[in-house]
Amino acid sequence: MSGLEQQFVQEAFDSNWVAPLGPNVDAFEREFGEVVGCEHVLAVSSGTAAIHLALIEAGVRAGDEVVVSTLTFAASAFPVVYLGARPVFVDSERTSWNMDPELLAELLAERASRGRLPKAVVLVHLYGQPANIDAVLELCRRYEIPLIEDAAEALGASYNGRSPGTFGRAGIFSFNGNKIITTSGGGMLVSPDRELIAHARKLATQAREPAPHYEHVEVGYNYRMSNILAGVGRGQLRVLAERVRRRRAIFERYRELLADLPGIDFMPEAPWGGHSRWLTVITVEPDEFGCDREQIRLALEAANIDARPVWKPMHLQPVFAEGEVVGGAVAEDLFARGLCLPSGTAMSEQDIQRVAEVVRAQQGAVR
Ligand SMILES: *Cc1c(COP(=O)(O)O)cnc(C)c1O
Repeated sequence: MSGLEQQFVQEAFDSNWVAPLGPNVDAFEREFGEVVGCEHVLAVSSGTAAIHLALIEAGVRAGDEVVVSTLTFAASAFPVVYLGARPVFVDSERTSWNMDPELLAELLAERASRGRLPKAVVLVHLYGQPANIDAVLELCRRYEIPLIEDAAEALGASYNGRSPGTFGRAGIFSFNGNKIITTSGGGMLVSPDRELIAHARKLATQAREPAPHYEHVEVGYNYRMSNILAGVGRGQLRVLAERVRRRRAIFERYRELLADLPGIDFMPEAPWGGHSRWLTVITVEPDEFGCDREQIRLALEAANIDARPVWKPMHLQPVFAEGEVVGGAVAEDLFARGLCLPSGTAMSEQDIQRVAEVVRAQQGAVR
């Protein structure tokens, strides 16, 4: 927390706007829209809820296919299953670690030839790095498939000077506890389409029709953000730029401390730049470094330092065992060799040095 949050939460208490919705929610939506550069914005209870709503608005129904990046957190794909649709996973490119547009092109050409196109593409911007948005967007336009951007991890990043999440038909962000800013739990749905957000707002509010009694024509959800949590979000939003600067500085510091080690590499910043470095991620080449990623992780754990492997690709997850994947070798390799280092903005220089020392001490360690 930055210290600014309490003032907005206090306002909610002072005005007794504690129940769902209220002035903080309206202000948070407006202020968030200004930060990411999008006019139509809906605050919801989680990033996962925002993806669910985006898929509904894209017209996804039971039996449909939805293309999803395979290298991601499961919440990118779970809402596809809520709708009875089937995720088809696409591998990463090396440049950005995000969806490979060439593989997407192959998949869409093959589906088009069978006359059965996917209903949506969920493009993830992993660890704060924007994907190759232009290439993916071009394919989505050509085949007239709505693009949903999962920018849960990429708030504060930029692609050609604009926030990821604002290029597609809809974009989503997350304010879960581990994200770059948090409301303890929450999310945002954004879209250039006023109607889309208006309808999603209705669905997120139990699909209540405008009538004095409770009238329902559609099935709704309880997905709105509370006025208290929106107050936390307003305070957090004010320190976003500072948080991104700090995350990038932490990344640079790790690089200074570790870049000379053979077999240690860092998640690249794609040529389009704007990586927020939400997490600092390294890859370990065991033959060159002398031990593997897991050995480093266990050494960190023994020193009471929490580090995690890169996301396990969705096509390797038992829950998606039936899922189809295009490619997969790149994401599998990044999972096998990738390690997310502690990257919290509260870290001190000493903390960073301590992490780097443990990593360094593993060089050449025999398994
Ligand atoms: C965190 C996250 C989500 C889900 O957001 P919640 O707010 O936790 O529901 C979705 N996609 C990705 C890539 C995430 O990292």
